[in-house]
Amino acid sequence: MANLMKLAQDLQFNFKNKYANGKYNGYDVALEQSMANPMLFSFQVEPLDAAQYNQFVAFLNNNKKQLKMNQYRIKDHMISISWFGSLSPMSAKIATEYLDLVTSELRRLSIYPNDSCVLCGEKDNLTEITINGVKMKAHQECKDSEILKLKQDTSNKPITEKHLFNGIIGAFIGAIIGSIPWILIEILTGFYAAVLGILIGYSAFFLYKTFGGPLNKNTKFIILIATLFGVFFTNIALASYVIIISGGGIMIANYIICYTDPDISSMLFTDLFIGLAMTAFAIPAIFKKVISSEKPKTIIE
Ligand SMILES: [Zn+2]
Repeated sequence: MANLMKLAQDLQFNFKNKYANGKYNGYDVALEQSMANPMLFSFQVEPLDAAQYNQFVAFLNNNKKQLKMNQYRIKDHMISISWFGSLSPMSAKIATEYLDLVTSELRRLSIYPNDSCVLCGEKDNLTEITINGVKMKAHQECKDSEILKLKQDTSNKPITEKHLFNGIIGAFIGAIIGSIPWILIEILTGFYAAVLGILIGYSAFFLYKTFGGPLNKNTKFIILIATLFGVFFTNIALASYVIIISGGGIMIANYIICYTDPDISSMLFTDLFIGLAMTAFAIPAIFKKVISSEKPKTIIE
């Protein structure tokens, strides 16, 4: 982000959150930096006709190397092009050359800077609107009705406690189901099967979603806690198995013996340790899955 803030200063763009918005060669331009895109350029233009579209796409493909282009998107009033020069950060010099190249091509193809409402397409009496950090032109009424529409949209509806509660129940059931292969294989073969602990987190997340759990910043913690629960649950299940095959009853005293007897406890703690290590190993990938499952939210300001 520090890179983008500096770049915004050099280009005399406005920097806010992870976006830099400004004017270049008459075009409203936004720069965005994210994990997926070292730099994403967005240009606000009048909608392209078929010929302009084809010519501009040809330009992008012919200059793919110079533009360090990863992907592009042309839709309505916006052209977005991702720049993928991850080895060296983008400097003001590179950005200027880049913007010169793209905006002069836009001019050459008579793709003009956008001068209409991005929501209804009409001109005149326009105000500024920010959609997901990118500044655009729109009418105040169009902006208001779009915000209202988003509020009514079910995917933007506030999460109820019921959803969260069901999701948490699902995560714990999922963690128990995910521990079954580990428990069974360990009982049947007698080998340490704790490597299967990896399954617990995935299973917890799967059932969390199936039970309607909301996907937000708390999801990761719920999955982590359910996964740890699954690992400890497995350990206690294995201790219970040891007790049962030795003809003992399921009672606290027998568990205390299990976890204090040098032979049994060393086996149980080794299994627990491997299970926790597997969790630590798998959890970043599971978190990535959680984040990528989150629905992108539209934020209009
Ligand atoms: Zn409008």
